[in-house]
Amino acid sequence: MTDLTSDTSNELTADTLPMAFAQLQLSDPLARAVFEMGYETMTPIQAQAIPVVLQGRDVMGAAQTGTGKTAAFALPLLQRMLKHENASTSPARHPVRALVLLPTRELADQVAEQVALYGKYTNLRSTVVFGGIDMKPQTAELKKGVEVLVATPGRLLDHIEAKNCVLNQVEYVVLDEADRMLDIGFLPDLQRILSFLPKQRTTLLFSATFSPEIKRLANSYLQDPVTIEVARSNATASTVEQHFYSVSDDDKRHALHQILRQRQLKQAFVFVNSKLGCARLARSLEREGLKTTALHGDKSQDERLKALESFKSGEVDLLVCTDVAARGLDIKDVPAVFNFDIPFHAEDYVHRIGRTGRAGQSGLALTFVSKSDMRLVADIEKLLKTKIDLEPIEFEEDLPDIRKQGHINDGRRMYQQESGNLPREDAAARSPRAQRSDYKPRVRSAPADPFFDKPYEPSLPPEATPAWEGAAVRPGVRSISGNIRSKRKVAALFTSA
Ligand code: AMP
Repeated sequence: MTDLTSDTSNELTADTLPMAFAQLQLSDPLARAVFEMGYETMTPIQAQAIPVVLQGRDVMGAAQTGTGKTAAFALPLLQRMLKHENASTSPARHPVRALVLLPTRELADQVAEQVALYGKYTNLRSTVVFGGIDMKPQTAELKKGVEVLVATPGRLLDHIEAKNCVLNQVEYVVLDEADRMLDIGFLPDLQRILSFLPKQRTTLLFSATFSPEIKRLANSYLQDPVTIEVARSNATASTVEQHFYSVSDDDKRHALHQILRQRQLKQAFVFVNSKLGCARLARSLEREGLKTTALHGDKSQDERLKALESFKSGEVDLLVCTDVAARGLDIKDVPAVFNFDIPFHAEDYVHRIGRTGRAGQSGLALTFVSKSDMRLVADIEKLLKTKIDLEPIEFEEDLPDIRKQGHINDGRRMYQQESGNLPREDAAARSPRAQRSDYKPRVRSAPADPFFDKPYEPSLPPEATPAWEGAAVRPGVRSISGNIRSKRKVAALFTSA
């Protein structure tokens, strides 16, 4: 196995790595697509992997989602396949030459979408197959011939058995999120699929961690791979600002509404631990005026894709989800992730908050911690090797009469002002309590922080400190626990290890 940084035979060193896409001299159709995507500088995984893959070497890459990993393999593979490009309509002229395997349907769909974008000015064809939906349209696509096939293992085997695709001309294989594929129990399926492929090929393996199982997989299927590691495993992105709020289970919805409004968040993921809890919370939030959709394992494939689509298009503001959505989904500009329930497994915390602060954007991860959650907080502290500071929430109002509150996306919607649904201040003023002569409004003072008067800026430069950085622990607000230090930024995901 070759380590990129210590490989003297390899001309690439940390100093000579190209950083601008222009330095790569990609062919015109690919350079044009990259230009249109707005990419100029390569991410660390791209700077390291692209030149190596262009040389035809095997790669073992430790990179988490959100690092630009897809382009890191897709661009050089497309570049290498351009020699096969042709405009013939004959399926025989378009055999599968690159196979990309992923653990989940959502990830497969997302990667296929990106591959199609990068290859849009070439004559190379790509498609995606995954389970849970009708095989027929996929079969029709496969029969037309495709050079790049993105797939989940189970459905690919179905197609192989049905003789819908032949893999004897595959030159490149990508095992993406390999650790996850092993977790799910895909090893036997992977072994079968790999047995159908020519021995002479380039194999790229990407995994968040290099566990002993992953190393065994690599030893069996990769030939003298170059090892590329851009992020410490279990690291969270430095671009994600993290807060842990001490809040009782009963107050969590109220807290969610308040934070959304105070921080003027346009969209957010809200993670919960159970499918039932997910469906219930989504229904409650929807009733309370927030455009919400739910994504969990009991939803059909169609419903899951629709839920993602409605979030991506901005039709809904909140995606309430279980961990099924935590791995790898790439939705640009998710400004915030809420852990409405703190995850049972600390690793899931890393994956969940990896949905925000992607590709150098700033992000916000807000975790609600109730009294019974302290053991789980300790697990996260241990994993991140950092102390967690619990912050109290000061509610602006006494009663969480959230049904009367406005929508979070006031750019698109207005306060509900129909019968009885008055804005909060009016409703409070008319309450029977307010009519009493001795009534003093008990609304606590709003936070005196200028940030809350400013519009939300979704695209701060990666280095910039978010405006709300200094605002989280406000003067005069006690920290709950004396032995827990103030918040910190944790290891950088976006820098080379
Ligand atoms: P990935 O890790 O492949 O899921 O990519 C995460 C996100 O980063 C995707 O939305 C990509 O479109 C975006 N991205 C990938 N490479 C770059 C780049 N060099 N510059 C800016 N954004 C990028």
